[in-house]
Amino acid sequence: MTLGPWLATAEERLAEAGIESGRLEAQVLAGHILGVDRTWVLAHPEATLPEARAGALLARRIRREPLAYILGYREFYGRRFLVSPAVLIPRQETETLVEAAIALGSTPMAVLDLGTGSGILAVTLKLERPAWDVTALDVSLTALMVAQQNAEALGADVRFCLSDAFAALGERTFDLIVTNPPYIGVGEPLMPEVGQFEPSLALFAGPTGFSFYERLAAEGLRKLNGGGRMMMEVGHTQAADVANLFVEQGWVHFDTVADLSGTPRVVVVGR
Ligand code: GLN
Repeated sequence: MTLGPWLATAEERLAEAGIESGRLEAQVLAGHILGVDRTWVLAHPEATLPEARAGALLARRIRREPLAYILGYREFYGRRFLVSPAVLIPRQETETLVEAAIALGSTPMAVLDLGTGSGILAVTLKLERPAWDVTALDVSLTALMVAQQNAEALGADVRFCLSDAFAALGERTFDLIVTNPPYIGVGEPLMPEVGQFEPSLALFAGPTGFSFYERLAAEGLRKLNGGGRMMMEVGHTQAADVANLFVEQGWVHFDTVADLSGTPRVVVVGR
């Protein structure tokens, strides 16, 4: 089959499946199969597309499997990260957390990425701030393996640690802890792409989505060096409640940072 008609049919079928960006996604899938970019796809409607392979990938997307899992990667902060169903797909709003951390300057620091998943925070911070000593931990071994692959592929010298939150860290302390923890309440309505495909461990935190923050508030203070900071991503309605929760546990609330759409996304606390 040639590209032109395939794209038209694929776009239609994706729209019927309730996928809004169907045109773009059809082009990306075709480009992925042919090993070319979208511009090339658009310029060559007469090119031949291997029909069975294209049909198989399209069927996966119609069943609402996220595009990033089908492609096997997602861009984050200008770099390509491998992803698998073992890890949360990187979100653009998490770049707010990267920017808040980078704004601290380039003085050497001990940094911890708690719940690293695909490794986006640890790897990006190490590459943007090479003087930082970066440790990435996760409770999931399969996630850590993805993160490690990303660190190697992108040339980031990051230390990895299998740990349930701070449990396996011993007495080590840090100047900066960054985390994009699970913060969705069990039972909250989710897009099929998220609820049916992304790892529950990375998404859910108790009935209202606060249980992981509660744990961080209880355990995190003694993991910070004097003057240390913890920067957390929060759900779009959670910033004030998370800040209060930490203040009640004896932390200082330093700042709340909004993402590009103006939604408060990062809460900065410390001792
Ligand atoms: N740190 C990773 C990210 O920001 C994983 C987060 C998670 O699994 N909750 O995408």
